[in-house]
Amino acid sequence: METASDRIVVALDGPAGVGKSTVAMAIARELSLTYVETGAIYRAVAYKARNEGIPLDDLTGVAGIARTIDITFRVEGDLNRVFLDGQDVTFALRSQDVSPLASKVSAQAGVRAALLDVQRSLARSGRGAVAEGRDIGTVVFPDAPFKFFLTADVRTRALRRFHQLEEMGRRPVLAELEDEIAARDRQDTERAVAPLKAAPDAVILDTSRLTAAQVIQAILERIRTACAG
Ligand code: C5P
Repeated sequence: METASDRIVVALDGPAGVGKSTVAMAIARELSLTYVETGAIYRAVAYKARNEGIPLDDLTGVAGIARTIDITFRVEGDLNRVFLDGQDVTFALRSQDVSPLASKVSAQAGVRAALLDVQRSLARSGRGAVAEGRDIGTVVFPDAPFKFFLTADVRTRALRRFHQLEEMGRRPVLAELEDEIAARDRQDTERAVAPLKAAPDAVILDTSRLTAAQVIQAILERIRTACAG
C-alpha cells in the first residue's frame, strides 16, 4: 500500500513538456525516493514495436511487448538513463519521432493494463517513489498521499522542450515542437482509457510563470508541511 507508514508515493501528472521530469527527479533526490518516469515505459513499448516491425495497430502484438518489457532505470546526475533489454536507449526514446508513437500505443487498453504492474513494482522499491506521467494520481496510484498536476500553456512547454533538446545536442524546430505537443495533448486527453486529467484530490500548479526551482520548492513545502502535521 502506498500509504504504508514508511513508504510514500508522490504522484506527478501533467501534459507533455510541462517539466515533470525535472521536477520529479529533484523531488525524488531531495526526499531520497525512487524516480519513476512512466512516459519512458510507453516510449519503450512503441520503440520496440517499431524496431521489431510490429504495426502499432496490431493490438495483440503491441500488448505482448508491453507484457514482457524488460526496462530498468539509472539516475546519473540530471539524466535518467533508460535500459531496454539491457541496451541504453536513453536518447533514442526521447526522439521526436517516438513521441507520437508512444501516445498512440498508450491509448490501447491492453498496453495500459500490462504496464500497471510494471509501474507499481518500480515505485515500490526503497522508501517510496516520485512517479510522473499522465494517470498516476487517477489510475496507477489513486491512493497516493501526495498528488500534483502541473500545467502550462503550449508555447511555454514547447520552449522548455526546445531548450532540453538543445542541451542534448539536438537542433529542434520550435513550431514543430508546438504542433507535436498540441497534437499529443489532444490524443492523451481525448482517449477513452486513463485519459490525461487531474485527480480530484490533486493540487493543480500552473507553472507557466514559475521556474523549475519554484515549482520544486512549492511541492516540497506541501509535502514537508503535511509530513510534519
Ligand atoms: O511523459 P512522456 O512525454 O515521455 O510520455 C510519452 C507518452 O506516453 C505520452 O504522450 C502519453 O501518451 C504516454 N503516457 C501515458 N501515461 C503515462 C505516461 C505517459 O499515457 N502515465
